[in-house]
This record gives sequence, structure tokens and C-alpha cells, in this order.
Amino acid sequence: MAEIIAVANQKGGVGKTTTAVSLASALALMGKKTMLVDMDPQGNATSGLGFDKRGYSPNIYNVLVELLPIENTIKASSVENLSVCGANNDLAGAEIELVSALARESRLKGALSSVKPKFDFVIIDCPPSLGLLTVNALNASDRIIIPIQGEYYSMEGLAQFVAAVEKIKSALNSRLEIEGGVLTMFDSRMTLSNQVKEEVVKYFGDRIFSTIIPRNIRLAEAPGFGQSIFQYDHKSKGAEAYLEFAREFLARRTPIPIRAQENIA
Ligand code: ATP
Ligand code: MG
Repeated sequence: MAEIIAVANQKGGVGKTTTAVSLASALALMGKKTMLVDMDPQGNATSGLGFDKRGYSPNIYNVLVELLPIENTIKASSVENLSVCGANNDLAGAEIELVSALARESRLKGALSSVKPKFDFVIIDCPPSLGLLTVNALNASDRIIIPIQGEYYSMEGLAQFVAAVEKIKSALNSRLEIEGGVLTMFDSRMTLSNQVKEEVVKYFGDRIFSTIIPRNIRLAEAPGFGQSIFQYDHKSKGAEAYLEFAREFLARRTPIPIRAQENIA
């Protein structure tokens, strides 16, 4: 059964899509059957993996609004083991069209139930808002990863987002947990980055990922070539960091072997 992970933060441009695409690609390269669901009308995850987003039809819009089975929208990507459910600007209308719809907050959750047995992980790329699309993503998810841009930090924005997550958890999805925050676009030479790091570590405690994603131009270039960072430049600092991030993500899911526990005792 797939574990469903939302990559979310209502702040724009913090590295959600880069993190979602890179984590999904890394897990797939490690042999995990992975699906990436694009829940953003910008369709950046879709185009970033080489799909022509305008021509991607049917897509997640048809699933959410017309209840089309999600299987009909899934395409294999050029990364082995990685499937995609794409999005484009069609989805911009969904927020409004779903307002009066039945079970409008549970559309994605319902759609994913049939594909859950086929994957190890479903990674959802969320839009930069707290609207119905993000609510659908969080309602469908087990865990949330919150990317935080190393150079700009809004404690207020983060607290607001975490409060919204708590509301969704109590109203809709009691199993939802914040997996943790991950620092992105980090530049250790900048005093501000280091201040942000200190604050974020304080805020998340042991839920912060110890892997930090550096600012790396190759990460910014890769989507323009429709490639994951591992295809575009697997030796880059960005690729190394996201591979390490995926390893840390998987290690959190591996139970400590009994022998090791005995040693600790
Ligand atoms: P939005 O809120 O618009 O969906 P986002 O949170 O998904 O944005 P991204 O699209 O992943 O953010 O990143 C914003 C921009 O920064 C993109 O142009 C991306 O290529 C670039 N970028 C992301 N991570 C890095 C990084 N570590 N180093 C350099 N550039 C990066
Ligand atoms: Mg994005």
C-alpha cells in the first residue's frame, strides 16, 4: 500500500516542485514504485518531467471535477518506476467548480484509493495556496513535507500553514502528520540562511530533515530540459543532496534492527 506524501507550503517559490520531483525520482531510482501527482494548475511538475502540459489530457482536473478514474490519466515518465498524473491550467477552474460539489474535499483521496495498492509512494506537489486543491492533497495524505527556502523565512507564514494543517487534521484526516521541514536553496555563506536554519531547527525539532538542499544552478536548469536532476546532471551538488534527502526519508521508515537495539541497551 502506498504511503501518500504531500509536499506543501502556501508560500510560493520555496522549492515544493523541485523537492517533489526530485524526491519522487530518487525513490523511483532506488526501486520504489512511485507516482507523482501534480496538484498545481501551473503544471510545473508535469512539464519538469518532460510532458507537454497543455497536451496532457485527461489530467487531474478530470479526476477531481468529473470523477474520471485516475488510472486513465497516469503516464509512465522517462524515469524508471516513476509514473505521473499531470496537471495544467485546466485545474485553475477546479477550485471554483468544486465549491458546490459533493465531497469536494475528498475527491483526490477517493481517486487515489484504487491506485494505492500499486505503488510504494505517492508524492503530491501542492500549489502555493491553502485552497481546495491543497485541502484535497492534505486530506488524501499520510504525511506532509514542508520545504522552507533558506533565504527568506516567515515564521508567521509557517505558523499559519501549520495551523491550517492542524485544522485539516482535526476536521478531515486524523492520520495526517507533519513529516518535517526541509531547508532548500540554502547558501551557507549567507548570514541570513544560517539564521533561518537556526529558527527552523528550533521550530521543527527532530522533525527537521538533517539533509539541507543547497542553492544549485543545475536544479534550476533541469526542468527546462524536462529532466529530473538525476538525468540532467547526476553529479551535481543538487542531485547529491536530493539523493541524500531521499535516503534520509527512507531511513526514517526502516525499523531499527533488533540487534542494533540490543547494542544500544
Ligand atoms: P510555486 O509555489 O510557484 O509552485 P515551488 O515552491 O514549487 O514554487 P520551485 O518551483 O521548486 O518552487 O522553485 C522555485 C524556483 O527556484 C524554480 O525556478 C526552481 O527551479 C528554483 N529552485 C528550486 N530549488 C532550487 C535550488 N536548490 N537551487 C537553485 N534553484 C532552485
Ligand atoms: Mg511548484
